[in-house]
Amino acid sequence: MCGVFGIFGHEEASKLVYLGLHALQHRGQESTGIVTSDGRQLSAHRGMGHVIDVYSQKHLEDLRGIHGIGHVRYSTTGGSGLRNAQPLAINYSAGSIAVAHNGNLTNAELLRHELEERGSIFQTSGDTEVIVHLIAKSEKSTVVDRVADALNQVKGAYSLVCQSEDTLIAARDPMGIRPLCLGKLDESYVVSSERSSFELIDAEFLRDLEPGEMLIINKDGLKSTRPFADASRHSCIFEMVYFARPDATLDSVNVYEARKNLGRALAQESPIDADLVIPVPDSGVPATIGYAAEAKIPFEMGLVRSHYVGRTFIEPEQSIRHFGVRLKLSPIADIIKGKRVVVVDDSIVRGTTSRKIVKMLRDAGAKEVHMRIASPPTQWPCYYGVDTPTRKELIASTHTVAEVNQYITSDSLAYLSLPALTKSVMAARNLSKGKELTEKSFCHACWSGEYPIEFTPSRKKQQLPLLHV
Ligand code: AMP
Repeated sequence: MCGVFGIFGHEEASKLVYLGLHALQHRGQESTGIVTSDGRQLSAHRGMGHVIDVYSQKHLEDLRGIHGIGHVRYSTTGGSGLRNAQPLAINYSAGSIAVAHNGNLTNAELLRHELEERGSIFQTSGDTEVIVHLIAKSEKSTVVDRVADALNQVKGAYSLVCQSEDTLIAARDPMGIRPLCLGKLDESYVVSSERSSFELIDAEFLRDLEPGEMLIINKDGLKSTRPFADASRHSCIFEMVYFARPDATLDSVNVYEARKNLGRALAQESPIDADLVIPVPDSGVPATIGYAAEAKIPFEMGLVRSHYVGRTFIEPEQSIRHFGVRLKLSPIADIIKGKRVVVVDDSIVRGTTSRKIVKMLRDAGAKEVHMRIASPPTQWPCYYGVDTPTRKELIASTHTVAEVNQYITSDSLAYLSLPALTKSVMAARNLSKGKELTEKSFCHACWSGEYPIEFTPSRKKQQLPLLHV
């Protein structure tokens, strides 16, 4: 759960990276960094918190040069301190390079151990530094070959941007798990985790990177290479359900449309007699629109969301009822009172949020509360870059749907089935561009337990706790 951005050959590189990262802020709010190059040397600035708070005008002016990459981070491995903020930048025997990475490597610990045995000293606890060491240690002569050599040794999910003094490299792992796309702003190429960055800076969207594709952008222009062994596509379907912005188009799937389709399918699979359908904002909104349209039940914003919630809050000593969830959501009692309400959310992880929402709605006077979830029960942790808790914390891994319903105290609970979910996503493809996508093109391990890439068992213990406010 991170976002990466890069631009090559623009007078205002640092400012455009800054804006590009701002559009990716939903992918990580913990720390951010920008590294630019003036063709001879790299400049870097990193900080904890949101893009808008970390960089001043002066910082952006000090980030010299016409090329740059940036990162927003939500740690899935490694600690959350500034030390782990990306892009990581190093000077090594052949020059300088900065690396920004979205994903999780499944053999990082093994590689780290091997590198340490050979004398490498690690500064951070994240996966990305493994790639940096592999680049520095590679015996290949060009930076492009070194990056390819390094990536050929790692396994797992990565969408990566690297900046050397004079070359920008962007790569997507052979299964295409995390997204990465290419655009153009005037004469400059831009790459980003999501297309929303391009909309903000008025860049033209060109295409998604193919799984296993590595782009080399330098003074000679753009070159596409395929330095990795082929693998079958397994794009993360949870990006479509929750993680990506609704205005994104990922691998030719229109995310907003896909989410509306999920809601429609949910209403078909699990109808219920009710007076209102309300979303858990913001993530549940498009699915709720679909649900309400299909079920012909009025849509209302029965819950209002605060957009100013940070990572931690100081709680008064005398505990306030629903403190955490109230910070984020509050009910509109006049709408809810006396009504049979369907609440649509994208997913249930631990069940904590849903339980609090149900209680909040009942306190606001709801007569009945029916939860509808626009994805199947989350039973398996993600080892490819989405921050999910350990298996035993995932309520659906140890409880049946009826038991989860009981725990969250709703009158009824239903999840969307996996076949209906995949079908809904497929129906939101741009047919002229998404021909190569099939129902088998997705990773859905979080629901099915079918992991497309092996991982070392100890990785399981390393998942960090999910953010809860
Ligand atoms: P929980 O209270 O643990 O069941 O969390 C469920 C809520 O977390 C839902 O409203 C989801 O939109 C949201 N959610 C799902 N997956 C994640 C994730 N990986 N990180 C942060 N929030 C998530």
